[in-house]
Amino acid sequence: MLADPAPLTLADQWRQRDLAVLWHPCTQMREHPDTLPLLPIARGEGPWLIDHDGHRYLDAVSSWWTNLFGHAQPRIGAAIAQQATQLEQVMLAGFSHEPAVRLAERLLAIAPRQAGRDPLAKVFYADNGSAGVEVALKMAFHYFRNRGENHRTRFVALENGYHGETLGALSVGDIPLYRRVYAPLLTEALFAPSPDAYLAEPGQSAAQRAHQAADALATLFDQHPGEICAVILEPRLQCAGGMRMYDPVYLQRARELCDANGAFLIADEIATGFGRTGTMFACEQAGVMPDLLCLSKGLTGGFLPLSAVLATQALYDAFLDDSRERAFLHSHSYTGNPLGCAAALASLAIFDRDDVLARNRGTAARMAQLAAPLAAHPYVAEVRQTGMILAFEMVADAATKQPFPASDRRGLRAYRHALERGVVLRPLGDVLYWMPPYCVGEEELTHLAAVTASAIEEATAP
Ligand code: PMP
Repeated sequence: MLADPAPLTLADQWRQRDLAVLWHPCTQMREHPDTLPLLPIARGEGPWLIDHDGHRYLDAVSSWWTNLFGHAQPRIGAAIAQQATQLEQVMLAGFSHEPAVRLAERLLAIAPRQAGRDPLAKVFYADNGSAGVEVALKMAFHYFRNRGENHRTRFVALENGYHGETLGALSVGDIPLYRRVYAPLLTEALFAPSPDAYLAEPGQSAAQRAHQAADALATLFDQHPGEICAVILEPRLQCAGGMRMYDPVYLQRARELCDANGAFLIADEIATGFGRTGTMFACEQAGVMPDLLCLSKGLTGGFLPLSAVLATQALYDAFLDDSRERAFLHSHSYTGNPLGCAAALASLAIFDRDDVLARNRGTAARMAQLAAPLAAHPYVAEVRQTGMILAFEMVADAATKQPFPASDRRGLRAYRHALERGVVLRPLGDVLYWMPPYCVGEEELTHLAAVTASAIEEATAP
């Protein structure tokens, strides 16, 4: 007689119900659940995600880089709950509300500044990162229309950059996996070589690599005189592109080139903002202020979808006119949602209260110490770090940086191995990285380091 199958656990039941009805983002659904585990999460606690059966997973990637102070952080949760009893939503056209105003004031007060430039002066809200990028692109383009410079229609973006999944954002993205299928639908951006220090020639420093890439950007401007309305980039590191980092001098050069050629600089700090790179915003490390600054993800501490685009007064002024068409009519129903703004204000209050950036310096130094031994691994080409982001580049040969064939899916092997040991190390191709919530503690970091080491061992074995 056959034995009865083991009863389904609660997690199993939710997994089954999920797969019956849900279509997940960034997923080949056919791989669920056998090749790619599917984890129904019941609750979060600090840096931990906990499933219905009580299994705990250390969220080493901050849930797609959104979470700052841990899951279910009580102060942010309470601020949202409080706001929900007052005003949950009102359209922001023709109406205003306190959280939207207060948050705009706070963001403008902490935004990057640059000597000799008028500071960022206006905040436009949207409801996710990609939508924020769309706003910035449309604003830059529309500005030149309003000024009668109709030939300024092109965007420059960086090779290996990522700005989101909507069609405008994909047009300035350069990650083939996300882009290729939709290429016929996209507008034609100009792509400049990435300053990525990992791509430096032997003997070339990160700064030299950055200058070389900036020279190529200069050439692109020369080849397209008066055509470029903006350069868009991720400051200091290209996150979705594999946590590839670059020297801040590139930002200074890009700023100068934009100024010299009458184009805007758009900084996409959706992933790098709010302390991830060690400073509140990555642009600060170059002393550069962009004309448009895109923020999302950590903006609400990771609680709610919200984005903000900060613009200069000069840019804003070009939209003031008697004509409605000259106005920036872009709108989303949930623009500036009060709950999102309240969450963001509560998150920023934690920065003020706890001197988060100072504490993070200690955490980042500990991360460096724990990761250092892996730099000598024969299948790790580089261990790199910028602030609270640390990445391991797994390759077939560390000396030559020869990558593994993509079809090997070494990153996936590492991911599964780590999950079985209670750590979420969701890779970008063969790059494993740590971008933990800021509340991560010593015990959790040592666990993370041990699991990362064994995941790399397992994933790089023949
Ligand atoms: N820009 C950057 C730099 C990002 O990392 C992301 C998200 N990974 C986006 C834009 C898009 O944000 P969202 O996923 O909220 O649309």
